[in-house]
Amino acid sequence: MSEKHHSAAELLRELFPESYREIFGEQPADVPLTLGLYPVADGRLALVHGEQLAEFTPIAPKGSAALHCDLCHHTRSRSEAHIYRVVVAARRTRYVTLCSPTEGCQQRAGKKGLEALAERIFPIENIYAE
Ligand SMILES: [Zn+2]
Repeated sequence: MSEKHHSAAELLRELFPESYREIFGEQPADVPLTLGLYPVADGRLALVHGEQLAEFTPIAPKGSAALHCDLCHHTRSRSEAHIYRVVVAARRTRYVTLCSPTEGCQQRAGKKGLEALAERIFPIENIYAE
């Protein structure tokens, strides 16, 4: 069992090495990680929950309808939010709408809101596995 736990942390660093380093530096994997969304390179966000990490990649907006934030549940105009694509498995992608910038949004949502979002995203399948 402990061997499986260990490989999960290694897998995380393998899947998202850049984001992992940007957020955690070179911390050893046994340091408990916090729950939250962290801005990383190229406008992406990284959702962290325990030792799980998901990358949110912004996609080009279509149309001009108002957006509903999936985290703090406020209604936003096109310029105040982004739609992100999250690959959660080989053939499964989720789309998440989030306010920009993320700091105020996370404050409004609180820990409960972040936990609910994390529950929708995780666990992520190892999409690089054979
Ligand atoms: Zn929001």
